[in-house]
Amino acid sequence: MACTGCSDRLGPVTGTGGETRLPALAPAAALPPPLAGQEVGRIDGLLDEGWRGLRFPGDLEAQFLNDTSAERIRRLLVNSVFVAAAFNLFLVSDYLMVPDQFDLALRLRLLVFTPLMFAVIIVLARLDRPRIREGMAAVSGMAAALISTGLCVLSTDVLAPAYLVSLTSILTFASGVARMRFRPALVLDVFVVMCCLISAWLMRERAPVALLIPVVLTVVATAVFTLYATYTMEKDERRNWLMRLREHLLLDELAAANEDLDRISRSDMLTGVANRRHVDEFLAQVWERARLDGTEVSVMMIDVDHFKAYNDRYGHPEGDACLRDVAGTLKRRLRRPTDLVGRFGGEEFIAVLTDTPLSTAQAAAERVRKGVEGLNRLHSASNTHAIVTVSIGVACMRPSAPHATPAQLISAADEALYQAKQTGRNRVFAFDTAD
Ligand code: GH3
Ligand code: MG
Ligand code: MG
Repeated sequence: MACTGCSDRLGPVTGTGGETRLPALAPAAALPPPLAGQEVGRIDGLLDEGWRGLRFPGDLEAQFLNDTSAERIRRLLVNSVFVAAAFNLFLVSDYLMVPDQFDLALRLRLLVFTPLMFAVIIVLARLDRPRIREGMAAVSGMAAALISTGLCVLSTDVLAPAYLVSLTSILTFASGVARMRFRPALVLDVFVVMCCLISAWLMRERAPVALLIPVVLTVVATAVFTLYATYTMEKDERRNWLMRLREHLLLDELAAANEDLDRISRSDMLTGVANRRHVDEFLAQVWERARLDGTEVSVMMIDVDHFKAYNDRYGHPEGDACLRDVAGTLKRRLRRPTDLVGRFGGEEFIAVLTDTPLSTAQAAAERVRKGVEGLNRLHSASNTHAIVTVSIGVACMRPSAPHATPAQLISAADEALYQAKQTGRNRVFAFDTAD
């Protein structure tokens, strides 16, 4: 035999092995579920036909709010800090335009609005409820509007009516900087316009209509323009999110399909175990690792006894079913994750057992032989046994030994299989070539 360091030649073994179970390659997985495809179709429908009322149907809305949550919290937090500081700058305008109410302005801005904004910042940083979060942004804007209009109405200064124009800064901030969502922005804008109208009405006696009308029109126009901007920005944000989601789903689908293709290309179609190509690749890898580690690799060749006669007696489809049963037994009996079961060709299977000495491989082979015997599959055409049986050749090598190769290990297992056949079939024959 052309095997490296062939030191021991063992006869047929009939004893049972230990209870250690060595695993086999999982069969090819089912094709990817059509769910991803359905979801992409649903998103395509939304992108083509749009969606009503700036709200996605069903669970998509919750997913959108969830996905955009971190960015919204970041933006609102930064804005709240900015507003808490910047809103106090209006004290300069308060001093110039409503000087008679400056004390009140000081108290409202420093003792009411600024602490309110800090409270908002603390809650925003902890809260994970998107709707309440957006609502809080609107409430902050309303509080700012109430302070501005209150100061204007209470002031008797001639410039107070013109100061109502400062409401536009709240509207532009909410839309352009805080990028409020449309619904809370609509509530805020209606509130601000109402504040403006009521204030103008209350000031109608002391302020010229020629001043009040342009002021009110400016606030109303700003509300309309910013609302329109808010609407289109949210629509774009939602569309972009849908497109990103679609892209992710397609990529996931592609990755799953690739994974399946890869698995299929490595599997034997009839039995679901590894195909010859995969076995060769696996053995090459295992070999290299064992060569570096100095460990042993065992191989078993499993051949169904009198299978030609089985086919002739029961027909090819039944022969196929028998091969599937034998493969199933192999997979069940060889369950170690580091081992691999494959179809070597025809009715011949192979198992590669990593870091496994001959005695362990022999015991595993014996478990396999008994497992197939235990199937009790009738084989009336067999001239040795009345049921389907297998003969197994086992060989073991240490890849670090000089001149050892995977081909030599397989040919040693093949030779052992030949011996198992020669000595009566339904048996295990082993060669130790490890040292
Ligand atoms: P031995 O005990 O010496 O192994 O005898 P055998 O009849 O099993 O061996 P032989 O090599 O003469 O016959 C192998 C048979 O396996 C011949 C072939 O028709 C059958 N075979 C090979 N591949 C398949 C397959 O995919 N399905 C079926 N049903 N039969 C197969
Ligand atoms: Mg055979
Ligand atoms: Mg054969």
